[in-house]
Amino acid sequence: MKRCPVCGEAVAPRSANPVFPFCKPRCKQIDLGQWLGGEYVISQSLLPASVGFGGPRHDRETD
Ligand SMILES: [Zn+2]
Repeated sequence: MKRCPVCGEAVAPRSANPVFPFCKPRCKQIDLGQWLGGEYVISQSLLPASVGFGGPRHDRETD
């Protein structure tokens, strides 16, 4: 059985689990929060620099 990427608990099948692949809504929230907080490191730079998740901004600020 698949395990929750957040807490490691067993995850119910997708057909019976609205928050798949997480075990419960709380874990989905935690995972989403990590993305928004910029704690996930994107190892491959597939995203353009202009795409932001609310993390550190590197926008040029010209006066
Ligand atoms: Zn979980």
